[in-house]
Amino acid sequence: MLRQISKLLFVASVVLVAIPSNAQQDPQAKPKPEDTEIWQPVPKVVTPAAECGQVPSDAIVLFNGKNVNEWVSVKDQSPATWDVHDGVMTVNKAGGSIETRRRFKDYQLHIEYKIPASITGSGQGRGNSGVFLASTGPGDDGYELQVLDGDNNPTYVNGMAGSIYKQSIPLANASRKPGVWQYYDVVWTAPTFNDDGSLKTPAYATVFFNGILVQNHFELKGQTLYIGKPFYKKYDTAPIKLQAHGDKSEPISFRNIWVRELP
Ligand code: MG
Repeated sequence: MLRQISKLLFVASVVLVAIPSNAQQDPQAKPKPEDTEIWQPVPKVVTPAAECGQVPSDAIVLFNGKNVNEWVSVKDQSPATWDVHDGVMTVNKAGGSIETRRRFKDYQLHIEYKIPASITGSGQGRGNSGVFLASTGPGDDGYELQVLDGDNNPTYVNGMAGSIYKQSIPLANASRKPGVWQYYDVVWTAPTFNDDGSLKTPAYATVFFNGILVQNHFELKGQTLYIGKPFYKKYDTAPIKLQAHGDKSEPISFRNIWVRELP
C-alpha cells in the first residue's frame, strides 16, 4: 500500500515538473501592474512624533523627564538612583549603571544625551558612558554603543562616540559640542541561538547619530569586550543598559528615551 502511494506521488511529481510553469498562461498575455501588487497584511497605523522631543504613538517611554521608574540598578536590581532634574536624568556614578525593568528582543530606540559644557578629561576619560543595546547580566560585557565626547577628543576610533565598542568604527564623526543635546536612533536586531547555546543568527545594529548614519546594519562579532576577542553567549531577551563609567569627568545627562518593539 505504502509503496503504491509513494509510486503515485513520484509519478505526480514527475508530471508536475514536466509541465512548464507558464504552460497554463496565455503566452501572449502581457504582465499587468496588478500581478505584482500586494494588499495584505496591511501595516498597523503608527502616529509619528509631532515634533522633536515627542514620542510615536506605539512607543514605550523609558524616560519621560519625571522619574526613573522604568530603571533599576544593574548591580542588585534595586530602584535606580540617578538624579532627575529639569526633565533630564544625570548619571550617578556612585549608584552605578542602570538598566530597564523591561526586557527586549528586536527594537527601534531613540535616546538623547548631553556631555556637560564643563567636561574635563581626555580620550576615554571624557564623558564616557554607553548605551548597552542588550544587557546580558552583571557578569557580562553586553553590547555597547559608545557614548563619549567626540568633539576634538582623540581616542582609538573603534571606541569613539558612535562606535560599536571595539568592533565597528563609526562611518562619520557626527558629534556635537559639549553642552549641546545629541541623539542616537538605533535599530537593534538581537542575536538568536540554538538549543545547545551555539549562535544561530548574529546581532545587527544600525545607528543614526544626530541624524547621520554611523552604523549601517553592522554584524556584531559578539559582546563588546574591554579586553579580548568578542564572543556570543546565549540569551533570549535583555534589558537596555546605561553606563555609569568610572572615569573622573563630570557625569553626563539623558532625556527623551523611547523604544518601539519590532515584530
Ligand atoms: Mg562607554
